[in-house]
Amino acid sequence: MIDFLIVGAGLYGSIIAHEAHKRGKSCLVIDKRSHIAGNIFTEKVNGVDIHKYGAHIFHTDDQEVWTYVNQFVTFNRFKNSPLAYYQGKLYSLPFNMYTFNQMWGVKTPKEAKQKIDSQREAYQDIEPKNLEEQAIKLIGKDIYEALIKGYTEKQWGRKTTELPPFIIRRLPVRFTYDNNYFSDRFQGIPEEGYTMLIEKLLAGIEVRLNTDFFALKDMFERLANKIIYTGMIDQYFDYQFGHLSYRSLRFENELVDTDNFQGNAVINYTEKDIPFTRIIEHQHFSFKTQKPTFITREYPADWQPGDDPYYPINDDENNLLYKKYRALADMQDKVIFGGRLGTYRYLDMDDVVRLALNQCTTLFNDEVS
Ligand code: FAD
Repeated sequence: MIDFLIVGAGLYGSIIAHEAHKRGKSCLVIDKRSHIAGNIFTEKVNGVDIHKYGAHIFHTDDQEVWTYVNQFVTFNRFKNSPLAYYQGKLYSLPFNMYTFNQMWGVKTPKEAKQKIDSQREAYQDIEPKNLEEQAIKLIGKDIYEALIKGYTEKQWGRKTTELPPFIIRRLPVRFTYDNNYFSDRFQGIPEEGYTMLIEKLLAGIEVRLNTDFFALKDMFERLANKIIYTGMIDQYFDYQFGHLSYRSLRFENELVDTDNFQGNAVINYTEKDIPFTRIIEHQHFSFKTQKPTFITREYPADWQPGDDPYYPINDDENNLLYKKYRALADMQDKVIFGGRLGTYRYLDMDDVVRLALNQCTTLFNDEVS
């Protein structure tokens, strides 16, 4: 018998494993993939960390979370300032005075507000019935049509008039010249990549890769006193109420024979007719420019059972289904469901760290430092 079996060597599972190991508990971590780190996995190619599952920027307002991760790795000064490409022009994101200047030539916040207000006037007193109405109510027609409509339709595989308004209840809009996408106090990327963070968390702990929990479920359940399960919650219960739905992604990687392909880490492509949603140039996450450069085109994709699940679709139908699985999960003494798949919701990395630390406080009944 061991104290803890941790299913999933992603960020959530690795923090629990680390804290358990630190307290002298015996742990085994398994992952069905061939590598640790889950979706934050970075792989070194030509000295550059490639974000294999999409661009990952750590950002948080939580001092404790920031201090926690900084024990293991040093973060660089990267700030996310993505651009949007639309019909041959580039626009700054998030929507800020640079964007308004590029869109309309306006220079002052007053001019920008007047322009936006004139475009959303007709929508002010209506309760938006769909994403399109919600977006125009928030930011006006021009920005909606150039920078939101096509991108969102690609991302969700549905027309914005068929998507619920809650998806964009809030939009980051600034009337200052500030391209920093996140407004959190702390931001950066580990200088040696995210995989190093997970390696440090898992130091001294047995990890078995290419090991699917469900291939030997009975054996694994007998093996451990407690199981931390970070896989799909519906799979754990054999999909007895049906499958939860996700949006998936497809990544197309290319080595380009140039030392600087697009001059920025992330450029979003907001036109409907361009099939990918963004191009990532990985070297800019670490301020390098070198030949050849590695780029990734990110394509949104429909999800079928068996595909990689990326974004949970938290609509009413799926949330109801999740509640049923959650009720079963709450009755389990031995198994704790955690992380993004175990709780069926999108979580940023800092949320994951916070939730894992809170779980440790409950599990070990002490303060986590
Ligand atoms: P995961 O990383 O998914 O780890 C779960 C692990 O469990 C996986 O390794 C999986 O292989 C394993 N597993 C599942 N089932 C089994 C099984 N049956 N047997 C064995 N192993 C199993 N967050 C940010 O803060 N900033 C960002 O910029 C950002 N960008 C993102 C971009 C994209 C495209 C996506 C999809 C997410 C992004 N995130 C970002 C969120 C971030 O990826 C998550 O917060 C984080 O990866 C969640 O960690 P986790 O441990 O919960 O899950």
